[in-house]
Amino acid sequence: MRPDFLPFSRPSISEPEIEAVANVLRSGWITTGPKAAEFEDAFSAYCRAEGGVALCSATGGMHLVLTALGIGPGDEVITPSMTWVSTVNLIKLAGAVPVFADADRDTLMISAETVEPLITERTRLIIPVHFAGAAANMEPLRRLAREQKIPLVEDAAHAAGTEYRGERIGCRGTAIFSFHPIKNMTSGEGGMVCSDDPELLSAVRRLKFHGLGVDAYDRTMQGRSPQAEVLAPGFKYNLTDIAAVLGMGQLKRLEGFIEKRTLLARRYLERLAQVDEILPLSMPSYPMRHAWHLFVVRLDTKGARMDRATFMDELKSRNIGTGIHFKAVHTQKYYRETMPFAGEKLPHTQWNSDRICSMPLFPGMTPEDVDSVVDAIKEVLA
Ligand SMILES: *Cc1c(COP(=O)(O)O)cnc(C)c1O
Repeated sequence: MRPDFLPFSRPSISEPEIEAVANVLRSGWITTGPKAAEFEDAFSAYCRAEGGVALCSATGGMHLVLTALGIGPGDEVITPSMTWVSTVNLIKLAGAVPVFADADRDTLMISAETVEPLITERTRLIIPVHFAGAAANMEPLRRLAREQKIPLVEDAAHAAGTEYRGERIGCRGTAIFSFHPIKNMTSGEGGMVCSDDPELLSAVRRLKFHGLGVDAYDRTMQGRSPQAEVLAPGFKYNLTDIAAVLGMGQLKRLEGFIEKRTLLARRYLERLAQVDEILPLSMPSYPMRHAWHLFVVRLDTKGARMDRATFMDELKSRNIGTGIHFKAVHTQKYYRETMPFAGEKLPHTQWNSDRICSMPLFPGMTPEDVDSVVDAIKEVLA
Protein backbone atom coordinates (compact mmCIF):
# COMPACT_ATOMS: atom_id res chain seq x y z
CA MET A 1 0.00 0.00 0.00
CA ARG A 2 1.26 3.50 -0.81
CA PRO A 3 2.35 5.43 2.29
CA ASP A 4 0.76 8.80 1.39
CA PHE A 5 -2.77 9.70 0.27
CA LEU A 6 -3.17 10.26 -3.48
CA PRO A 7 -6.03 12.71 -4.10
CA PHE A 8 -7.99 12.33 -7.34
CA SER A 9 -7.01 15.88 -8.34
CA ARG A 10 -4.47 18.49 -7.26
CA PRO A 11 -3.66 21.78 -9.00
CA SER A 12 -0.10 22.26 -10.23
CA ILE A 13 1.00 25.76 -9.17
CA SER A 14 4.56 26.91 -9.90
CA GLU A 15 6.72 29.35 -7.93
CA PRO A 16 6.72 31.89 -10.84
CA GLU A 17 2.89 31.79 -10.75
CA ILE A 18 2.91 32.49 -7.02
CA GLU A 19 5.37 35.33 -7.60
CA ALA A 20 3.16 36.75 -10.39
CA VAL A 21 0.13 36.72 -8.08
CA ALA A 22 2.19 38.44 -5.36
CA ASN A 23 3.26 41.08 -7.90
CA VAL A 24 -0.38 41.84 -8.73
CA LEU A 25 -1.08 42.16 -5.02
CA ARG A 26 1.79 44.65 -4.75
CA SER A 27 0.81 46.58 -7.88
CA GLY A 28 -2.04 48.71 -6.57
CA TRP A 29 -4.59 47.21 -9.04
CA ILE A 30 -5.93 43.84 -7.93
CA THR A 31 -9.41 43.54 -9.42
CA THR A 32 -10.31 43.36 -13.14
CA GLY A 33 -7.61 45.28 -15.00
CA PRO A 34 -4.70 44.85 -17.40
CA LYS A 35 -4.05 41.19 -16.41
CA ALA A 36 -7.66 40.18 -17.09
CA ALA A 37 -7.49 41.89 -20.48
CA GLU A 38 -4.18 40.13 -21.24
CA PHE A 39 -5.66 36.79 -20.17
CA GLU A 40 -8.69 37.24 -22.44
CA ASP A 41 -6.41 37.93 -25.40
CA ALA A 42 -4.01 35.07 -24.62
CA PHE A 43 -6.66 32.42 -23.96
CA SER A 44 -8.68 33.43 -27.06
CA ALA A 45 -5.49 33.29 -29.13
CA TYR A 46 -4.72 29.82 -27.74
CA CYS A 47 -8.21 28.59 -28.73
CA ARG A 48 -8.00 30.55 -32.01
CA ALA A 49 -11.28 32.15 -30.95
CA GLU A 50 -12.32 35.53 -32.30
CA GLY A 51 -12.76 36.80 -28.77
CA GLY A 52 -13.30 35.89 -25.16
CA VAL A 53 -14.68 37.41 -21.98
CA ALA A 54 -13.08 36.41 -18.67
CA LEU A 55 -15.49 35.72 -15.82
CA CYS A 56 -15.43 34.54 -12.22
CA SER A 57 -16.73 31.08 -13.21
CA ALA A 58 -18.07 29.02 -16.08
CA THR A 59 -21.40 28.94 -14.25
CA GLY A 60 -21.46 32.76 -14.38
CA GLY A 61 -20.62 32.53 -18.08
CA MET A 62 -23.52 30.16 -18.72
CA HIS A 63 -25.86 32.46 -16.79
CA LEU A 64 -24.86 35.42 -18.95
CA VAL A 65 -25.13 33.48 -22.21
CA LEU A 66 -28.62 32.21 -21.29
CA THR A 67 -29.58 35.79 -20.36
CA ALA A 68 -28.10 37.24 -23.55
CA LEU A 69 -29.98 34.65 -25.64
CA GLY A 70 -33.21 35.57 -23.83
CA ILE A 71 -33.88 32.06 -22.49
CA GLY A 72 -36.93 32.25 -20.23
CA PRO A 73 -40.30 30.76 -19.28
CA GLY A 74 -41.78 28.40 -21.87
CA ASP A 75 -38.42 27.73 -23.52
CA GLU A 76 -36.86 24.27 -23.71
CA VAL A 77 -33.11 23.70 -23.56
CA ILE A 78 -31.65 20.33 -24.57
CA THR A 79 -28.61 19.22 -22.57
CA PRO A 80 -27.29 16.01 -20.95
CA SER A 81 -28.21 14.87 -17.45
CA MET A 82 -24.73 13.30 -17.26
CA THR A 83 -23.02 16.59 -16.39
CA TRP A 84 -22.28 18.96 -13.56
CA VAL A 85 -25.50 20.52 -12.19
CA SER A 86 -24.63 24.14 -12.97
CA THR A 87 -26.10 24.42 -16.48
CA VAL A 88 -29.33 22.64 -15.55
CA ASN A 89 -29.72 24.77 -12.41
CA LEU A 90 -29.43 27.92 -14.54
CA ILE A 91 -31.97 26.66 -17.07
CA LYS A 92 -34.37 26.09 -14.15
CA LEU A 93 -33.59 29.46 -12.58
CA ALA A 94 -34.32 31.15 -15.92
CA GLY A 95 -37.80 29.60 -15.74
CA ALA A 96 -37.07 27.40 -18.77
CA VAL A 97 -37.39 23.61 -19.06
CA PRO A 98 -34.31 21.39 -19.20
CA VAL A 99 -34.80 18.52 -21.67
CA PHE A 100 -32.29 15.74 -21.08
CA ALA A 101 -30.71 13.92 -24.00
CA ASP A 102 -29.34 10.48 -23.17
CA ALA A 103 -25.56 10.12 -23.24
CA ASP A 104 -23.68 7.59 -25.32
CA ARG A 105 -23.10 4.59 -23.09
CA ASP A 106 -19.32 4.64 -23.52
CA THR A 107 -18.33 8.27 -24.25
CA LEU A 108 -21.02 9.87 -22.04
CA MET A 109 -21.73 12.52 -24.65
CA ILE A 110 -24.94 13.54 -26.39
CA SER A 111 -25.10 13.52 -30.17
CA ALA A 112 -27.23 14.75 -33.07
CA GLU A 113 -29.05 11.38 -33.00
CA THR A 114 -30.02 11.68 -29.34
CA VAL A 115 -30.86 15.40 -29.58
CA GLU A 116 -32.95 15.44 -32.79
CA PRO A 117 -36.01 13.50 -31.49
CA LEU A 118 -36.24 15.91 -28.53
CA ILE A 119 -36.58 19.05 -30.64
CA THR A 120 -39.97 20.76 -30.42
CA GLU A 121 -41.21 24.18 -31.51
CA ARG A 122 -40.21 25.41 -28.04
CA THR A 123 -36.57 24.31 -28.25
CA ARG A 124 -34.45 27.44 -27.94
CA LEU A 125 -30.95 26.13 -27.24
CA ILE A 126 -28.80 22.98 -27.34
CA ILE A 127 -25.90 22.64 -24.86
CA PRO A 128 -23.61 19.63 -25.41
CA VAL A 129 -20.78 18.88 -22.95
CA HIS A 130 -17.27 17.92 -24.05
CA PHE A 131 -16.97 15.16 -21.48
CA ALA A 132 -13.80 14.53 -19.45
CA GLY A 133 -11.67 16.32 -22.07
CA ALA A 134 -12.93 14.41 -25.12
CA ALA A 135 -14.74 16.35 -27.85
CA ALA A 136 -18.44 15.91 -28.57
CA ASN A 137 -19.22 15.14 -32.21
CA MET A 138 -19.86 18.74 -33.23
CA GLU A 139 -20.23 18.48 -37.01
CA PRO A 140 -23.61 16.67 -36.96
CA LEU A 141 -24.75 18.77 -33.98
CA ARG A 142 -23.85 21.99 -35.82
CA ARG A 143 -25.66 20.81 -38.94
CA LEU A 144 -28.78 19.94 -36.92
CA ALA A 145 -28.69 23.28 -35.08
CA ARG A 146 -28.27 25.19 -38.35
CA GLU A 147 -31.12 23.32 -40.07
CA GLN A 148 -33.44 23.84 -37.11
CA LYS A 149 -32.22 27.42 -36.51
CA ILE A 150 -31.51 26.68 -32.87
CA PRO A 151 -28.44 28.19 -31.17
CA LEU A 152 -25.74 25.83 -29.91
CA VAL A 153 -23.52 26.61 -26.91
CA GLU A 154 -20.74 24.22 -25.88
CA ASP A 155 -20.07 23.45 -22.24
CA ALA A 156 -16.28 23.35 -22.56
CA ALA A 157 -15.54 23.25 -18.81
CA HIS A 158 -13.46 20.09 -19.38
CA ALA A 159 -12.13 21.07 -22.77
CA ALA A 160 -9.35 23.68 -22.53
CA GLY A 161 -6.94 22.30 -25.15
CA THR A 162 -9.33 19.70 -26.58
CA GLU A 163 -9.35 19.52 -30.37
CA TYR A 164 -12.08 18.31 -32.72
CA ARG A 165 -11.15 17.45 -36.30
CA GLY A 166 -7.96 19.51 -35.98
CA GLU A 167 -9.70 22.56 -34.49
CA ARG A 168 -9.38 23.75 -30.90
CA ILE A 169 -12.62 23.83 -28.97
CA GLY A 170 -13.54 27.51 -28.73
CA CYS A 171 -12.35 28.51 -32.20
CA ARG A 172 -15.86 28.25 -33.65
CA GLY A 173 -19.31 28.93 -32.26
CA THR A 174 -19.68 29.69 -28.55
CA ALA A 175 -17.86 27.69 -25.86
CA ILE A 176 -17.70 28.23 -22.11
CA PHE A 177 -14.53 27.21 -20.25
CA SER A 178 -13.92 26.74 -16.52
CA PHE A 179 -10.76 27.47 -14.54
CA HIS A 180 -11.92 25.88 -11.29
CA PRO A 181 -8.95 24.18 -9.52
CA ILE A 182 -10.02 20.68 -10.59
CA LYS A 183 -9.96 21.59 -14.31
CA ASN A 184 -7.05 21.31 -16.75
CA MET A 185 -5.85 24.82 -15.92
CA THR A 186 -6.94 27.05 -13.07
CA SER A 187 -7.22 30.66 -12.01
CA GLY A 188 -8.39 29.67 -8.53
CA GLU A 189 -11.95 30.23 -9.70
CA GLY A 190 -12.66 31.53 -13.16
CA GLY A 191 -14.19 31.00 -16.56
CA MET A 192 -14.17 32.31 -20.11
CA VAL A 193 -16.83 32.66 -22.78
CA CYS A 194 -15.24 32.37 -26.23
CA SER A 195 -17.35 33.13 -29.27
CA ASP A 196 -17.27 34.01 -32.96
CA ASP A 197 -20.44 36.09 -32.42
CA PRO A 198 -19.32 39.66 -31.56
CA GLU A 199 -22.84 40.68 -30.51
CA LEU A 200 -23.09 37.84 -28.02
CA LEU A 201 -19.63 38.67 -26.65
CA SER A 202 -20.48 42.32 -26.15
CA ALA A 203 -23.74 41.36 -24.42
CA VAL A 204 -21.77 39.04 -22.10
CA ARG A 205 -19.24 41.83 -21.48
CA ARG A 206 -21.99 44.28 -20.57
CA LEU A 207 -23.95 41.79 -18.43
CA LYS A 208 -20.88 40.66 -16.49
CA PHE A 209 -20.37 44.11 -14.94
CA HIS A 210 -23.61 45.73 -13.76
CA GLY A 211 -24.85 46.33 -17.31
CA LEU A 212 -22.47 49.22 -17.78
CA GLY A 213 -21.76 50.17 -21.36
CA VAL A 214 -18.03 49.77 -20.74
CA ASP A 215 -15.88 47.00 -19.38
CA ALA A 216 -14.89 46.75 -15.71
CA TYR A 217 -11.53 48.02 -16.91
CA ASP A 218 -11.14 50.41 -19.81
CA ARG A 219 -8.07 49.45 -21.81
CA THR A 220 -7.51 52.97 -23.14
CA MET A 221 -8.12 54.83 -19.89
CA GLN A 222 -6.11 52.32 -17.80
CA GLY A 223 -8.89 52.48 -15.25
CA ARG A 224 -12.61 52.63 -14.96
CA SER A 225 -14.55 55.21 -16.90
CA PRO A 226 -16.38 57.40 -14.39
CA GLN A 227 -18.94 58.38 -17.07
CA ALA A 228 -20.10 54.80 -17.62
CA GLU A 229 -23.86 54.32 -17.49
CA VAL A 230 -26.08 51.31 -16.99
CA LEU A 231 -27.58 50.37 -20.35
CA ALA A 232 -29.59 47.45 -18.92
CA PRO A 233 -29.36 45.76 -15.50
CA GLY A 234 -26.47 43.35 -15.26
CA PHE A 235 -24.65 41.01 -12.88
CA LYS A 236 -21.16 41.08 -11.35
CA TYR A 237 -19.20 38.17 -12.70
CA ASN A 238 -15.86 39.81 -13.58
CA LEU A 239 -12.53 38.03 -13.09
CA THR A 240 -9.95 39.69 -10.82
CA ASP A 241 -6.40 40.42 -11.96
CA ILE A 242 -5.20 38.23 -9.06
CA ALA A 243 -6.97 35.28 -10.69
CA ALA A 244 -6.16 36.29 -14.27
CA VAL A 245 -2.39 36.39 -13.72
CA LEU A 246 -2.53 32.86 -12.33
CA GLY A 247 -4.57 31.84 -15.39
CA MET A 248 -1.87 33.39 -17.63
CA GLY A 249 0.83 31.29 -15.98
CA GLN A 250 -1.27 28.14 -16.21
CA LEU A 251 -2.11 28.76 -19.87
CA LYS A 252 1.62 28.80 -20.67
CA ARG A 253 1.90 25.32 -19.15
CA LEU A 254 -1.38 23.89 -20.49
CA GLU A 255 0.19 21.98 -23.39
CA GLY A 256 2.66 20.39 -20.97
CA PHE A 257 -0.18 19.51 -18.57
CA ILE A 258 -2.09 17.79 -21.39
CA GLU A 259 1.01 15.84 -22.46
CA LYS A 260 1.52 14.63 -18.91
CA ARG A 261 -2.16 13.76 -18.47
CA THR A 262 -2.10 11.85 -21.76
CA LEU A 263 0.90 9.75 -20.67
CA LEU A 264 -0.76 8.92 -17.35
CA ALA A 265 -4.10 8.09 -19.02
CA ARG A 266 -2.38 5.78 -21.51
CA ARG A 267 -0.71 3.95 -18.66
CA TYR A 268 -4.06 3.53 -16.91
CA LEU A 269 -5.62 2.18 -20.13
CA GLU A 270 -2.78 -0.28 -20.68
CA ARG A 271 -2.70 -1.55 -17.12
CA LEU A 272 -6.48 -1.67 -16.68
CA ALA A 273 -7.02 -3.62 -19.90
CA GLN A 274 -6.52 -6.84 -17.89
CA VAL A 275 -9.03 -5.88 -15.19
CA ASP A 276 -12.41 -7.18 -16.40
CA GLU A 277 -14.54 -5.42 -13.78
CA ILE A 278 -13.22 -1.95 -14.70
CA LEU A 279 -14.58 -0.37 -17.87
CA PRO A 280 -12.85 2.87 -18.92
CA LEU A 281 -14.71 5.23 -21.24
CA SER A 282 -14.22 4.70 -24.98
CA MET A 283 -12.39 7.07 -27.29
CA PRO A 284 -14.75 8.60 -29.84
CA SER A 285 -14.10 7.30 -33.38
CA TYR A 286 -13.87 10.74 -35.08
CA PRO A 287 -10.56 12.65 -35.12
CA MET A 288 -9.93 14.59 -31.91
CA ARG A 289 -7.32 15.38 -29.29
CA HIS A 290 -8.32 14.33 -25.79
CA ALA A 291 -7.29 16.82 -23.08
CA TRP A 292 -7.70 14.14 -20.38
CA HIS A 293 -9.39 16.30 -17.78
CA LEU A 294 -10.69 13.17 -16.01
CA PHE A 295 -9.94 9.47 -16.08
CA VAL A 296 -13.41 7.97 -15.71
CA VAL A 297 -14.12 4.27 -15.33
CA ARG A 298 -17.29 2.29 -14.69
CA LEU A 299 -17.32 -0.47 -12.11
CA ASP A 300 -19.01 -3.64 -13.33
CA THR A 301 -20.85 -4.04 -10.04
CA LYS A 302 -22.16 -7.49 -10.96
CA GLY A 303 -18.80 -8.89 -12.02
CA ALA A 304 -17.09 -7.28 -9.02
CA ARG A 305 -19.89 -8.36 -6.64
CA MET A 306 -19.40 -5.00 -4.96
CA ASP A 307 -21.25 -1.69 -5.08
CA ARG A 308 -19.47 1.52 -6.02
CA ALA A 309 -19.53 3.03 -2.53
CA THR A 310 -17.73 -0.01 -1.12
CA PHE A 311 -15.24 0.05 -3.99
CA MET A 312 -14.45 3.74 -3.35
CA ASP A 313 -14.20 3.20 0.42
CA GLU A 314 -11.83 0.26 -0.08
CA LEU A 315 -9.62 2.40 -2.34
CA LYS A 316 -9.68 5.22 0.19
CA SER A 317 -8.52 2.86 2.93
CA ARG A 318 -5.58 2.09 0.60
CA ASN A 319 -4.75 5.82 0.30
CA ILE A 320 -6.36 6.32 -3.12
CA GLY A 321 -8.81 9.20 -3.58
CA THR A 322 -11.58 8.91 -6.16
CA GLY A 323 -14.48 11.08 -7.32
CA ILE A 324 -17.86 10.77 -9.05
CA HIS A 325 -18.22 12.75 -12.29
CA PHE A 326 -21.10 12.79 -12.29
CA LYS A 327 -24.10 11.63 -10.37
CA ALA A 328 -26.63 12.39 -13.14
CA VAL A 329 -28.52 15.64 -12.62
CA HIS A 330 -31.94 13.94 -12.78
CA THR A 331 -30.97 11.77 -9.78
CA GLN A 332 -30.31 14.79 -7.49
CA LYS A 333 -33.03 15.43 -4.89
CA TYR A 334 -34.56 18.57 -6.43
CA TYR A 335 -34.68 17.04 -9.92
CA ARG A 336 -35.99 13.67 -8.66
CA GLU A 337 -38.85 15.57 -7.08
CA THR A 338 -39.58 18.00 -9.92
CA MET A 339 -38.86 15.68 -12.88
CA PRO A 340 -39.66 12.22 -11.46
CA PHE A 341 -39.90 10.48 -14.86
CA ALA A 342 -36.81 11.99 -16.49
CA GLY A 343 -34.71 8.85 -15.88
CA GLU A 344 -37.04 6.58 -17.86
CA LYS A 345 -35.76 7.95 -21.15
CA LEU A 346 -32.10 8.00 -20.08
CA PRO A 347 -31.03 4.34 -19.82
CA HIS A 348 -27.35 4.91 -20.61
CA THR A 349 -27.12 7.93 -18.31
CA GLN A 350 -28.77 5.98 -15.50
CA TRP A 351 -26.53 2.94 -16.00
CA ASN A 352 -23.40 5.06 -15.88
CA SER A 353 -24.58 7.29 -13.05
CA ASP A 354 -24.64 4.24 -10.76
CA ARG A 355 -21.22 2.87 -11.81
CA ILE A 356 -19.04 5.81 -12.72
CA CYS A 357 -15.88 6.63 -10.76
CA SER A 358 -12.96 9.00 -11.47
CA MET A 359 -9.42 7.81 -10.76
CA PRO A 360 -6.62 10.18 -9.70
CA LEU A 361 -5.31 12.18 -12.66
CA PHE A 362 -3.28 15.39 -12.43
CA PRO A 363 -0.01 16.61 -13.92
CA GLY A 364 1.98 16.21 -10.69
CA MET A 365 1.38 12.43 -10.67
CA THR A 366 4.04 9.91 -11.66
CA PRO A 367 3.63 6.66 -13.61
CA GLU A 368 4.32 4.90 -10.29
CA ASP A 369 1.29 6.67 -8.82
CA VAL A 370 -0.82 5.20 -11.63
CA ASP A 371 0.62 1.77 -10.88
CA SER A 372 -0.22 2.15 -7.19
CA VAL A 373 -3.85 2.92 -8.13
CA VAL A 374 -4.10 -0.07 -10.45
CA ASP A 375 -2.49 -2.34 -7.86
CA ALA A 376 -4.97 -1.15 -5.24
CA ILE A 377 -7.88 -1.72 -7.63
CA LYS A 378 -6.71 -5.27 -8.30
CA GLU A 379 -6.34 -5.92 -4.58
CA VAL A 380 -9.83 -4.57 -3.81
CA LEU A 381 -11.42 -6.67 -6.56
CA ALA A 382 -9.48 -9.87 -5.73
C1 LIG B 1 -16.87 22.48 -13.57
C2 LIG B 1 -18.00 22.42 -14.51
C3 LIG B 1 -18.83 23.52 -14.75
C4 LIG B 1 -18.79 24.77 -13.92
O1 LIG B 1 -17.59 25.41 -13.86
P1 LIG B 1 -17.36 26.55 -12.74
O2 LIG B 1 -16.20 27.33 -13.27
O3 LIG B 1 -17.07 25.84 -11.46
O4 LIG B 1 -18.59 27.35 -12.67
C5 LIG B 1 -19.78 23.43 -15.74
N1 LIG B 1 -19.94 22.30 -16.44
C6 LIG B 1 -19.19 21.21 -16.24
C7 LIG B 1 -19.41 19.99 -17.08
C8 LIG B 1 -18.21 21.22 -15.24
O5 LIG B 1 -17.48 20.11 -15.00
